Amino acid sequence: MIVDDLPLSRAEVDRAAERRADGLAPALADPASRVLLVDDGGVLTDASGALVLLAPDQADALAGGPVPSIDGRGRDDAAADGADVEAWLLLGRDDHGSAYLARRVLGRRDAPLAGAASDVLVHAGATAPAGRTASLPDGASWSSLRTVGAALTAHDAGLATAAVALDSWHARHPRCPRCGAATRVVQAGWVRACVADGSEHYPRTDPAVIMAVVDDEDRLLLGHARAWAAGRWSTLAGFVEPGESLENAVRREVREETGVVVGDVEYRGSQPWPFPASLMVAFVARARTTDVVVDGVEVEQAAWFTRDRLREAVASREVVPPGPASIARALVEDWLGERLPEHAAF
Ligand SMILES: [Zn+2]
Repeated sequence: MIVDDLPLSRAEVDRAAERRADGLAPALADPASRVLLVDDGGVLTDASGALVLLAPDQADALAGGPVPSIDGRGRDDAAADGADVEAWLLLGRDDHGSAYLARRVLGRRDAPLAGAASDVLVHAGATAPAGRTASLPDGASWSSLRTVGAALTAHDAGLATAAVALDSWHARHPRCPRCGAATRVVQAGWVRACVADGSEHYPRTDPAVIMAVVDDEDRLLLGHARAWAAGRWSTLAGFVEPGESLENAVRREVREETGVVVGDVEYRGSQPWPFPASLMVAFVARARTTDVVVDGVEVEQAAWFTRDRLREAVASREVVPPGPASIARALVEDWLGERLPEHAAF
């Protein structure tokens, strides 16, 4: 099944969760540790599209120097009392036991890459660590995980999805949801703890359902959202509501968005989609009715496609299907029984 081939669905890395309690200090002190840079859904990749992995000091220099935790302490102070610094995440370990880390660039990513690739690249507004220099491989650039995700190996995808998801969570959760006080990083980037009441807060993952709705004639229901560029069509999708099963979320979303009543719902796979915190849970859903009445709010148009009709519409660029990294694309291709042309993606 094509869903099983998606790198973001197969994404795997030894997360070494038992090492998180040791904090970041052992991994930061080990020159064999390898670090990817992450910022706002993007990761640093080389000319071949693979992740750029750096030594910890190199990553620090490129990212603009050490970053204090939100309560104002630097790496040494934070390590002294067991807290971890704001900008680092422990992602896992390689086959030899060395750590994989992510260094959050914290919105500075345009700066480190502003110079020539082989030069010292330090953000002008940041504190450059004395004597530290770093260089990037030729051709290194920031890539959105949305666009490079399909080309990464399952291992690189495992590192990148965890890094992008954690980076997004930290960026959005600086404060305690109970009392509003600052939180600081503990457990090597996997937990934030309130400095006032000590409560611990964990990264969120928000489940969303995404479904290939198929009728008795084996036609596929696709929709065009109001917010999308002209021509862009995809499978229906929506967030699971509190107190709701995945299957009922599928039925509710399809009915709300298109008026179509769905019966049987069959699980097909899942995909982390950390933009910022989704887990896409994919289904094939059997339609009991075929009349389409769009909600006009989220979905502007929806229509049933035969395989021939979809092939023609994609070939003529009348329909632009979802991108190759997405499970939406895999659901469409699974139904179609073949890959869509490479050029065809939004
Ligand atoms: Zn609190």
